[in-house]
Amino acid sequence: MQFKIGIGYDIHRLVEGRKLFLGGIEIPYVKGLLGHSDGDALIHALCDALLGAIGAGDIGQHFPDTDFKYQGIASSQLLKAVQEIVVSRGYRINNLDVVVIAQEPSLKPFKDLIKQKLSELLKLNPEELNIKAKTNEGLDAVGNKEAIACYAVVSLIKES
Ligand code: MG
Repeated sequence: MQFKIGIGYDIHRLVEGRKLFLGGIEIPYVKGLLGHSDGDALIHALCDALLGAIGAGDIGQHFPDTDFKYQGIASSQLLKAVQEIVVSRGYRINNLDVVVIAQEPSLKPFKDLIKQKLSELLKLNPEELNIKAKTNEGLDAVGNKEAIACYAVVSLIKES
């Protein structure tokens, strides 16, 4: 059986006047993530991990932020498109693991919702994915509540 592994990272600035989306879930907070799309750093990191695993570049290559059609797009749509690319290459997701780093808001109450949403979008069993939420211990831009960052790792299996 052939396995592939991919890693993804993303960070977006927190600004007033935007809704906060992480993992396709709207999270109540006074700020949201700035971006050409809805700014969902978690999904962007996940897309990059998936594209990396199949050697298909990165999210900016597939969905350029200079392209008007992606302006304000729900990142869940991008994730679905990336999942289709993975399937078209003959792979399925074995498991994925995500670390979200946010000083605020506390993501603890939303981890299960995010997990449920991602398992729906990617057609996975919940035990095949894992979401971890951390603060940045008050350090740097993330710790100063200026941004939210995310890391994702995925493993894929070649369908026989
Ligand atoms: Mg991004």
